[in-house]
Amino acid sequence: MELLMDSQKIHEECGVIGIYSPAGDTVTKDIYYGLIALQHRGQESAGISVSDTDGLKGNMETHKGMGLVSEIFTGEEISKLRGNIGVGHVRYSTTGESNIKNAQPIAMNYIKGSLALVHNGNIINAQELKKEQLYRGQAHFSTSDTEVLAYEIISERIHTETIEDAIKITSRKIRGGYALIVMSPRKLIAIRDPLGIKPLTLGKKKDAYILSSESAAIESIGGNFIRDIQPGEIVSVTKDGIQSDTSLCRKKKAHCIFEYIYFARTDSIMDGIGVRDARFRAGQALASRDAEELKKEKTRCPDFSNRIDLVAGVPDSGLVAAEGYAFESGIPLASIFHKNNYIGRSFIKPTDKERKDAVQMKLSVLQSVVKGKRILLIDDSIVRGTTMNQIIRALRKAGAREIHVRISSPPFLYPCYYGTDVPSSHQLIAADHSSEEICKRIHADSLAYLKIEDFGRMTGSLSLCKACFDGNYPI
Ligand code: AMP
Repeated sequence: MELLMDSQKIHEECGVIGIYSPAGDTVTKDIYYGLIALQHRGQESAGISVSDTDGLKGNMETHKGMGLVSEIFTGEEISKLRGNIGVGHVRYSTTGESNIKNAQPIAMNYIKGSLALVHNGNIINAQELKKEQLYRGQAHFSTSDTEVLAYEIISERIHTETIEDAIKITSRKIRGGYALIVMSPRKLIAIRDPLGIKPLTLGKKKDAYILSSESAAIESIGGNFIRDIQPGEIVSVTKDGIQSDTSLCRKKKAHCIFEYIYFARTDSIMDGIGVRDARFRAGQALASRDAEELKKEKTRCPDFSNRIDLVAGVPDSGLVAAEGYAFESGIPLASIFHKNNYIGRSFIKPTDKERKDAVQMKLSVLQSVVKGKRILLIDDSIVRGTTMNQIIRALRKAGAREIHVRISSPPFLYPCYYGTDVPSSHQLIAADHSSEEICKRIHADSLAYLKIEDFGRMTGSLSLCKACFDGNYPI
């Protein structure tokens, strides 16, 4: 996570993985492929640290760099990193320093051995802790709050009996959303924030234990998902197996709804809810709302399918919700875009012009499908409005007759302080425009959002953090 002493602009999303093989097998390849599976969580930098639990303490090896996992690690790099315990990280920050110093793992040698730390989330009191550390004479090499965490754990570890105790004391001091994996010379330790804002899962491949931001990464390397790490739980993996400390667990939970809306992979299961299922049900909820609206209108033709020719999703995150909408409404589902997968994310481009160009290069409209058609178009969110504006322009150019936009999340109104990238309020189009105004601005024929009340349909009774939509920050 980025820590900017002079700014509140902290926007990061990351993916973490850690593997320990008590049988002594090298874990680097599995960490590498796990990171490839988590690449959607961060494309700015990546890294792996490995160690040998039977070797000398402090024999840790780290390789990290800027760019995609496949660009950073060659076959040679992977074969050089040998060890049966390791951690990996993918990072995505859109503001502040984007440089190698902030890349993770943060790996350190200290008086009791070595420590490598990977972190997803945001520590909201990191600046206070950093200040204390600076006054204690602790130099910092990055602007990252992960470094603050590492120093905090190390300083506690000097007087504690175990690394778990040091992590526990540190976790009592920190506030925010986090999923942390710490590699010490002989152990892999994971901790998830007490509200469970950030996801963290546990799996196994033969005798090796896997900790990962998402279950999809466990499955993609041939492992089996076992369970979620509980909010507040500290899990320690050693040669003797797994130990769990739940003494920091609390009743109150607040899982990030944005993971289900957009961020996580569709094939992941988080806190008992399949991401795909949640997105599908969001699409169904949008269709039910439209059906209710139509009933209210009391037209002679309440069948929405007579007014719409096809339902389509904006790739990738709108596609499942579009399926859900089509299923519920009975309107045919169609693919109306070709997506070029080799263009980077438009969302993180610095200027509006670059974002527009990126959308145009990424998505081309299939003219023969849309020409003359009344389209119900679903995307997961409107943040600044750039993407939807560009898409509607392209659809009109291709001859679409009507474009009705449905968004499978409520209007984005508030920034996130727990580690999801949402621009500051003045860039959030919904913060100072009504739905009618946004509809006009994006040149849609109609626009409707998912209602906050529909989250229940998406994720059942799961306790959620939905602060970006309702401003109720759980911390
Ligand atoms: P915008 O063009 O600013 O309205 O952004 C909306 C598009 O960005 C949608 O298509 C989303 O899928 C995507 N998006 C929304 N939130 C994020 C995020 N935190 N990080 C990356 N992409 C996002």
